Amino acid sequence: MSALVELVGVSKQFDQVAALAPVDFAAEGHKTTVLIGPSGCGKSTLLRLIIRLLVPDTGTIKFDGAPVNAENILQLRRRIGYVIQDGGLFPHLTARNNVLLMARHLGKDEKMMRDRLEEICALTRFPLDALSRYPLELSGGQRQRVSLMRALLLSPELLLLDEPLGALDPLVRASLQKDLKEIFARLQQTAILVTHDLAEAAYLADEIVLMNEGLIVQRGSIVDLREKPANNFVSEFINAQRSLALA
Ligand code: ADP
Ligand code: MG
Repeated sequence: MSALVELVGVSKQFDQVAALAPVDFAAEGHKTTVLIGPSGCGKSTLLRLIIRLLVPDTGTIKFDGAPVNAENILQLRRRIGYVIQDGGLFPHLTARNNVLLMARHLGKDEKMMRDRLEEICALTRFPLDALSRYPLELSGGQRQRVSLMRALLLSPELLLLDEPLGALDPLVRASLQKDLKEIFARLQQTAILVTHDLAEAAYLADEIVLMNEGLIVQRGSIVDLREKPANNFVSEFINAQRSLALA
C-alpha cells in the first residue's frame, strides 16, 4: 500500500494561533481516512493545506509522490474533489449548473457531461428531475448530494470532504452515511473526511486520525482508540461521545 497524500512536518500559524503544529500525516490510496477532533483543532486547516488553499509555514506535502507547489497545484487540483464545510453551492445556479461548473470551465464535451451527470445522479441517488432546481429548493440531504456530485463529477483520485453531513437531521444523516460508504467502496475512492462525530468516524473510516489543538494525537481503528488510548485526551474524547449517545 502506498500513500496518495503525505505530509511531513507540516505546520500553519495564524497570527497568535498555531492552527496546526508540525504534523506528519498520510492517507492511503483507496481508503477512507477520517479526521476527527474538537472544534478548532485544525481539521479544516489540514484539508485546506492539502489542496493549497493555505500554504504551509513548514514542511512538505506530497501528492502521488510529488511535492505540491505553486507551479503544479492547478494541475493537481483537477485530480482532487473538495466538498467544503457548508457545501459551497452557488445559490443562483441550478443543481445541474452547480455540478457542471468546473467541467464547463475546463471545456469538457457537452455530451460527455450529460452522460456523466446521469451516471453520477444514479450513483448518489439524486433524482434527475431535481437537477433544474436551485439549492434553496432542495432538502438539506439533496443539497449535500449535489455538493458530492460536483466533487465527484471529474472522477477525482482524491476526495476531500469537510463535515459533509454536519448540518443534517439524524435520519437523513444516517442514510447519507450509508450511501457515502457504498459510493466509496464502489469507486474504490481515496477519501479524507472530516467529522466531529465518533460514530460516523467509526462507521466510515478505514483509519481514524484523532486531532487536538493542532496535533495528531492518535491514529488507528476505533478499537485501537478505545482499547489502547494514547493519552487521557483520547479516553476523554471517546467517553464524552459515548455519554452523549446515551444521554
Ligand atoms: P476545525 O476545522 O478543526 O474546527 P480549523 O482548522 O478551522 O479547525 O481551525 C483551527 C484553528 O485555526 C482555530 O483556532 C481557528 O480559529 C484558526 N483559524 C482557522 N482559519 C483561520 C484564519 N483564516 N485566520 C485566523 N485563524 C484561523
Ligand atoms: Mg472545520
